[in-house]
Amino acid sequence: MTVGHLVAGIDVGGTKTRAVAMDAEALIVGDVRSSTDAAGGEAVVASTFRVLTDLAELVGIAPGAFEVVGLGIPGVVNAELGTVRHAVNLGVDGHPVAVGPLLSAAAGVPVVVENDVNAAALAALALAAPAGTEDLIYLNVGTGIAAGVVLRGRVWRGRRGLAGEIGHVVVDSNGPRCRCGQRGCLEAVASGATITRRWPAAGGRRAAVALFAAAAAGDRDAIAVRDEVIGHLARAVELLAFTLDVDCIVVGGGLADVGRPLLLALRAAVTRTGREASLVEVFDLPARVHLAPAGAPLGAIGAALAARRRALLSAERAEVG
Ligand SMILES: [Zn+2]
Repeated sequence: MTVGHLVAGIDVGGTKTRAVAMDAEALIVGDVRSSTDAAGGEAVVASTFRVLTDLAELVGIAPGAFEVVGLGIPGVVNAELGTVRHAVNLGVDGHPVAVGPLLSAAAGVPVVVENDVNAAALAALALAAPAGTEDLIYLNVGTGIAAGVVLRGRVWRGRRGLAGEIGHVVVDSNGPRCRCGQRGCLEAVASGATITRRWPAAGGRRAAVALFAAAAAGDRDAIAVRDEVIGHLARAVELLAFTLDVDCIVVGGGLADVGRPLLLALRAAVTRTGREASLVEVFDLPARVHLAPAGAPLGAIGAALAARRRALLSAERAEVG
């Protein structure tokens, strides 16, 4: 192992933090996970540093010997300053927390900060998209719903880092109340949390997997819930696809655990609307819908890819200078 050419990618979730070490060939050479201390900015930085230390120990280097560390974190990220705010699941409010500089000071290594879904979108481009894809949207359907946009191979964050935050677009004004206060947000009618509420699975099985199994077995209630959720997600996929005409839309998050039945249902749902056949043909939307690879830690891998990119840019600059 060539020490000095390893980067770390860390995905900070509301309950768990996952970290991977990636070598110069983009191979994962270390993988650790631990619980997140989600009691505000300082606690998050401290538990992230512990995970980084565990990862460094696993691959036999000091934390400061990573070339650069990529940090994927939920909330509104300012990638230039390395700050995050509005990460409710981490106890971070509207006041920006300088997670990047703080972790960098603790570990003695440069830190790149990226929104977690944006990081996962980079990993989806590398792992789930057909070869040659440059423009991609990653739709994360987990507890909440958000999308990450990659254009020409780079994350498109938007003016305020909010590009792709479609979870709180109202899709059913008579729908259930959302945690944001509105009624019928996409997140309130089609997220993992909604599926769990409408189809509580027994025995620790994932609600979405149980829902799709029951629907496949002919349970009428399950079919109704499944079709409603898929209908909403299909409209979201169409909205994203028609807005940016990307090559590829990758669906990931907890819902992707359903696997092929989910992919087939989504592809069928984006085919069947009453559009003119010519329009359907031009867009060829079903062929553009893909699923994230099952079990891959997309957030951590994407954070490592963002870090690797930063390392390459600094190396280029150093050569030019
Ligand atoms: Zn909402």
